[in-house]
Amino acid sequence: LKNADTAMYHAKQRGNHYLFFNDSMNEQAVKRLQIENLMRFGLKEDHFVVYYQPKMDIKTGRLVGMEALVRFITPKKGIISPGIFIPIAEETGQIIEIGEVVLDKACKDVKRWIDQGLFDGRVAVNLSAKQFSLPDLTTRIDIILQKNQLPSYFLELEITEGTIMDDPQEAISIMRSLSARGIHLAIDDFGTGYSSLAYLKQFPLNTLKVDKAFVDDMSSERGRNMVDSIVTIAHNLDLHVVAEGVEKAEQLSALEQLNCQTIQGYFYSKPLCAADFTSFLRAQKQR
Ligand code: C2E
Ligand code: CA
Ligand code: CA
Ligand code: CA
Repeated sequence: LKNADTAMYHAKQRGNHYLFFNDSMNEQAVKRLQIENLMRFGLKEDHFVVYYQPKMDIKTGRLVGMEALVRFITPKKGIISPGIFIPIAEETGQIIEIGEVVLDKACKDVKRWIDQGLFDGRVAVNLSAKQFSLPDLTTRIDIILQKNQLPSYFLELEITEGTIMDDPQEAISIMRSLSARGIHLAIDDFGTGYSSLAYLKQFPLNTLKVDKAFVDDMSSERGRNMVDSIVTIAHNLDLHVVAEGVEKAEQLSALEQLNCQTIQGYFYSKPLCAADFTSFLRAQKQR
């Protein structure tokens, strides 16, 4: 897109940009630039907020952890979905700063919930490819944990298949240094990228997250068999399994039959803002 921007600039200079760009391409580039600017402003003005989605034990129905999910709340355009701004932030590199804001806020919130006696599990934070390949990643994480006085035991990082398969050998060494600190590691969106089973057993992983797409397919026998295979592979590798995007009771019982322990999805709860998540934790305590 950098080249496209340059081409558009030159085309505009000559006043004939229709030669190079149809309206929809032009519109897209403008939108992208708008969001990039909004994000720059939003980082300054603290417009990035963290929501939390519970991860529940399928057998006991109790909370075992949560995933931190970023929300971009702009004064003029309302909430912009991560599906829209994360890919752009990845491209521009702004994801590094956004990711650190999310980690910092998640650590702060979880520290408070622990101190209040409301929680003692792990918070899972998504780590982007750009963050993962920072040479000083572990130091950056250490600093944020220390600043919030949160022991690394309470942190889990979700890393997508694509991120770790880019350079598996390098990934293994980065993951080892995170794992050595007691940070748990989850492979996210499993099955949607080009995962290599040969590598899977070499990564120091704790958790495998079954992507929502597979959960959606569980109404068919083939779909259930697919999830069965994934769960079996995970268990053979001693990985904890989390199924995401669970919305229906049928999916829940199918997953229970396949021995999938942990569930995340609208069936239990949508992602909640910190205040609503506090209420969720309080209600859990009273069970
Ligand atoms: P993800 O990591 O796969 O997160 C799960 C997504 O599925 C979340 O979307 C969540 O709200 C949604 N979800 C959970 N349960 C259900 C369900 O039952 N039904 C449906 N329809 N959706 C469900 P969200 O919050 O919009 O985030 C989308 C993606 O954006 C995430 O996918 C993740 O890849 C990325 N993302 C979100 N926050 C961050 C962040 O702080 N850092 C980075 N690097 N990426 C993030
Ligand atoms: Ca995730
Ligand atoms: Ca996921
Ligand atoms: Ca997903």
